[in-house]
Amino acid sequence: MVVVGAGIAGVACATELVRAGLPVEVRERARVTGGRMASRRFDGRPADLGAAYFTVDDPGFATVVQGWRAAGLVREWTDTFVAYGPDGRRETAGPTRWAAPRGLRSLVEHLAGGLTVAHNRLVMTVEPGPRVDGRAAEAVVLAMPGPQAALLLDPALAVATRAVAAQRWSSALAGVLRFPARRWPDFGGAFVNGHPVLGLVCDDGDRRGDGAPVLVAHTTPEFAAGHLRQPAAAGPAIERAVRDLLGLREPAELTHVHRWTYAKPTAGGNGTYHLDDDGIGLAGDAFGRPRVQSAWRSGRDLGRAVAARLLAGRG
Ligand SMILES: Cc1cc2nc3c(=O)[nH]c(=O)nc-3n(C[C@H](O)[C@H](O)[C@H](O)COP(=O)(O)OP(=O)(O)OC[C@H]3O[C@@H](n4cnc5c(N)ncnc54)[C@H](O)[C@@H]3O)c2cc1C
Repeated sequence: MVVVGAGIAGVACATELVRAGLPVEVRERARVTGGRMASRRFDGRPADLGAAYFTVDDPGFATVVQGWRAAGLVREWTDTFVAYGPDGRRETAGPTRWAAPRGLRSLVEHLAGGLTVAHNRLVMTVEPGPRVDGRAAEAVVLAMPGPQAALLLDPALAVATRAVAAQRWSSALAGVLRFPARRWPDFGGAFVNGHPVLGLVCDDGDRRGDGAPVLVAHTTPEFAAGHLRQPAAAGPAIERAVRDLLGLREPAELTHVHRWTYAKPTAGGNGTYHLDDDGIGLAGDAFGRPRVQSAWRSGRDLGRAVAARLLAGRG
């Protein structure tokens, strides 16, 4: 049994398979676990480059979050953001947003604690059988954005190929901006509406609880689409847009831009996962809203479905 992708969906899926007593191999092309729950260190301090936070309303996911809380990995960040728009700035209340002082990636790593994850392991082909890179597997789970799964799938696996082709994705750039000092108006996160560059700006020092003068800005899909070839070249425009928005005179002392070609699904599948008679499973946030919780639920549900099928097949 092979799970391809060590984002939260793949890890949740593999966890269920292991729980059912099935041997599972997780293969991840990156050198770390986490996928879009991505954190990178700048001068020793982590900043979140992908998901900005997560919210919880699923009881099963709430149990997972309690486990993270007990391990000291998460904190309730805020239920109040501000919204910038053509009419100015206002506060907006919403659900509790959760953050991770060591970065969201630390949460996926914690969840993957009991699993064997092979990193730097790019999977190239999934063929009928199913066969993964030429070797037979009882079933294969592709826990990743559909366009990435499409690169692996042999077109003869027609049902899965159709399912991934039905997904639609938008891009984003994430800009990490470190300033010499905190000089912005007090806010945790800011939705930016109707802006040509920005969609969201988060105070990473507030989010992480260390007060560092670091902001992380997410661009609109439209702006990102024009800069996918050379994301670093978009750094000055992102930095200028953030300073204009918040009225900051001092320039950032560090700007780093991360490209997410497939950031969020805009159209996906029915139900919480895909599992077909060819033994191909698909999981991820395309089967729900573009949220950490949806990806976790998708992986968990698919893991349970695959386990039930394999165990039934063994009589
Ligand atoms: C900019 C941005 C902002 C976001 N903001 C939020 C937010 O505020 N709140 C929220 O809840 N969610 C947010 N999200 C969404 C959230 O990050 C995702 O829903 C969730 O992390 C998806 O997890 P996943 O496991 O489905 O996919 P991923 O995390 O994408 O995992 C897929 C994994 O598969 C691996 N992979 C791909 N191809 C191969 C291959 N051929 N071989 C081996 N491995 C492969 C990838 O390297 C990756 O690790 C945001 C995402 C982005 C990008």
